Amino acid sequence: VPSPHAPVPSSDSPDGPGALLAVVGASTQVPLIDGTSRAYANLDCAASAPALESVAARVAEVLPLYASVHRGAGYLSQVSTSLYESSRATIAAFVGARADDVAIITRNTTDSLNLLAGCVPAGGRVLVLDLEHHANLLPWQRDGATVLAVEDTVAGTLAAIARELARVPYALVATTGASNVTGEALPVADVVRVAHAAGARVVVDGAQLVPHRGFSLAGTDADYVAFSGHKTYAPFGAGVLVGRRDWLDDGAAYLAGGGAVRDVRADRTLWTTAPARHEAGSPNVIGAIALAAACEALAGLPAGALEAHESALRSRLVDGLDAIDGVRVLQLWADSAEPIGVVTFDVAGHDPGLVAAYLAAEHGIGVRDGRFCAHPLVARLGVPAGAVRASVGVGTDAATVDRLVTAVRAYLVAGP
Ligand code: PLP
Repeated sequence: VPSPHAPVPSSDSPDGPGALLAVVGASTQVPLIDGTSRAYANLDCAASAPALESVAARVAEVLPLYASVHRGAGYLSQVSTSLYESSRATIAAFVGARADDVAIITRNTTDSLNLLAGCVPAGGRVLVLDLEHHANLLPWQRDGATVLAVEDTVAGTLAAIARELARVPYALVATTGASNVTGEALPVADVVRVAHAAGARVVVDGAQLVPHRGFSLAGTDADYVAFSGHKTYAPFGAGVLVGRRDWLDDGAAYLAGGGAVRDVRADRTLWTTAPARHEAGSPNVIGAIALAAACEALAGLPAGALEAHESALRSRLVDGLDAIDGVRVLQLWADSAEPIGVVTFDVAGHDPGLVAAYLAAEHGIGVRDGRFCAHPLVARLGVPAGAVRASVGVGTDAATVDRLVTAVRAYLVAGP
């Protein structure tokens, strides 16, 4: 395994984009089935994105300062507390938090959405679409949410949401920022407009949208957003839920334990307010610092750079795959806006697991296969046995995308 600070290999496709930011492990050599090795082509950024080099450097810098936060009087405890709280502020600012929003550090998006599910006021109905990742479906479904089927178009789906919201009152609409299967999304600001008009709040599952596009609560007027550090170029298990304070101050403490309380007696507990109310136990300080460093690096990119980078790589990938007979890129809506850099494809008549295993063993390419924790959507896309997903990120260059297209073509010529 090479040094985590190995340089980013420059793009060897002069006509396509190179990496936008340097990530660790970009030159990791992986063994191939023929006994040789090759630089790993990481096209699985939507699952977990490699950490930025700047994030790794920040973690190395703060590791010696690591001490218990909030309740320690010692110098390092004070430093750690200050770093933890300033990281919270940085993360909140990165997603355009308003002055009265609160940011709760969690383990990941799944954790954040489960936390919010416990804070919806009693009796409040929740509306969710059937295209969601299970993390943004099961916490609501378990509590009796209405699961609305998407329509054939974005416009039709927005109209269906509006009709359902007019039929009965809802407290919350839970919507994806971008699908982890097709990269598509409903325009968040439009969902918010429709929901707010009907008196419902909106939570955005930003697991894919935030790292691939960026997002703003203030800009969209959405009420909550959840996302994960490990998909946002930070290592370690930190995620976040950011949004309106009232539900989070009043909802049941997500975890019961030290740090979440104002006063405890043997027979009763007075819980404190958010964020501490939901952060019982020793928090993931380094994870939060790493996530804040990633947010800073992404925020430092020139306006539009992230979108332009992903858009160029996505088009290149889709064009390359579309040109191969028997390969079909999956898309939900004909009228969706530019999807994020997540491309899922079906290789007709071939098991997606075998395709992915071939790409790994023969070409050193990492993709994801299966049903992507989005079973209803995958069934709707007509591939009940699953498909293959390639996803890019800030560390991906055109040459890596080209390698995948060449390898898929080779698979169909050579066979599994
Ligand atoms: N939502 C979406 C759209 C995702 O892609 C994922 C992970 O793949 C999640 C939620 C869950 O994220 P995590 O596993 O970090 O909780």
